[in-house]
Amino acid sequence: MIQNFINGEWKPAAAGDTIDKINPMNGEVQYQIPDSKAVDVVLAVQAATKAFPAWSALSAQDRAKYLNRIADRIEQRLEEFALAETEDVGKPLELSKTLDIPRAISNFRFFASRLLHHEEASSEVDGKFLNYTIRQPVGVAALISPWNLPLYLLTWKIAPALAMGNTVVCKPSELTPKTAFLLSEVMNEVELPKGVCNIVFGTGPDAGQALVEHPGVPLISFTGGTATGEKISKSAAPFFKKLSLELGGKNSAIILKDADLKRAVLGTVRSSFLNQGEICLCTSRILVQEDIYQQFISEFTREVDELIVGDPMQVGTFMGPLVSKPHFEKVQKALNQALEEKGKLVAGAKGDNELKEKFKGGFFMRPKVIADLTNCSDLHQTEIFGPVVTVQTFKYPADAVKLANTTPYGLCATLWTQDLSKAHKLSQNLQVGTVWVNTWLQRDLRMPFGGQKASGLGREGGEHSFDFFSEQKTVCLQI
Ligand code: NAD
Repeated sequence: MIQNFINGEWKPAAAGDTIDKINPMNGEVQYQIPDSKAVDVVLAVQAATKAFPAWSALSAQDRAKYLNRIADRIEQRLEEFALAETEDVGKPLELSKTLDIPRAISNFRFFASRLLHHEEASSEVDGKFLNYTIRQPVGVAALISPWNLPLYLLTWKIAPALAMGNTVVCKPSELTPKTAFLLSEVMNEVELPKGVCNIVFGTGPDAGQALVEHPGVPLISFTGGTATGEKISKSAAPFFKKLSLELGGKNSAIILKDADLKRAVLGTVRSSFLNQGEICLCTSRILVQEDIYQQFISEFTREVDELIVGDPMQVGTFMGPLVSKPHFEKVQKALNQALEEKGKLVAGAKGDNELKEKFKGGFFMRPKVIADLTNCSDLHQTEIFGPVVTVQTFKYPADAVKLANTTPYGLCATLWTQDLSKAHKLSQNLQVGTVWVNTWLQRDLRMPFGGQKASGLGREGGEHSFDFFSEQKTVCLQI
């Protein structure tokens, strides 16, 4: 039974309401979670506020010790965490074991180590003045996360927030709450002081909104959809809360004619469909230089049609079901609209009926590749967040950059070329937070991560996370 974790204790929502958690494999109810409301959020913020003075007064070494213990304990329970992630999201178990849970462990270890190696700036002016900076925690941090990489993204927030001496109230996605609940067990197993980390389960409009609006919460780190980000931004503005928004994307892969074609094909299959295409960084538009279009498309579609979609527990499965029925229906609707607009399905036309038959009630879909849409088509402009990519051609590299920049989003782009000088120049013109060249999803936790335009506000990662989760102060001494 999943319960809220407040002040080191598990409890149901005060009103006793629950939400059914649905199994993406078969559409059946898996378990219930608390349907928390403002009153539960108030209790969690109270606990975090009470725990703040003692936690923020601990030495960096002691805080780092806790983070390392949390990492060690998740590592000991890795199989259990991975299984929970797969059962909640529908993602292949192999992926949970090799990507999601290991990354959650790294998040704690990375920020523990970063904290111990952290230095502050100082500068002297003509032997007369000495300036230096000090860094202080902000207070109670609201951490709101989505369903696609549940533990990976939640711990990306918890670890730096706690490292900097803040206490936290987390609101994980109501669609995928299990690993956050397991994490609450870990927090008690490592004897993290009560109230330092609190977790409230419930919907966005109720628990999430109450957390955002709580006057005792001066900082919000949010990862999720752009429309939700806009709402949160409006609610936080009157209070001048510190706000970090990691939002949606419409990411292009640009394949130049001098690319190593095999690498580009395999890399783009992975970037388009890993995690069922449900990663904010997934490629959703493939732009291919016209000289190699035919060759690329024939090799790419062959690979896509060979991907194994099915039981996420089985080794070799590349894609499991989509996360929920509403999400499945949203992806299907976008697909139907693209076909009405004369888009041509060049991969993924067959196999959906067999999946429907085999996994009754599940939200399975074969990966789809669509060609021949105009650039202003909805599918080229709106985030779908599922296993659907479009392909377009371009003549000159500058045209590809223009096409890639013509969306409201600016999260990431991928370039495939053997000419690194060209890659460098094109990277400068792409309006995104991250450009990957001949690779994808390679993350160095020291580097800034975030989006331009409708993809977000601010950067997290390394020092950027420490900047966000602390207040920096300059002290100027006359010597
Ligand atoms: P979502 O915006 O629907 O929900 C995200 C979280 O916000 C959930 O916990 C939800 O309950 C909560 N929420 C919803 N309404 C709220 C409100 N009014 N106030 C406070 N909280 C609220 O997003 P989702 O469907 O869970 O996730 C998919 C989206 O997340 C996609 O757009 C994807 O691109 C984006 N995403 C972005 C990144 C990134 O790093 N940029 C990473 C992963 C996912």
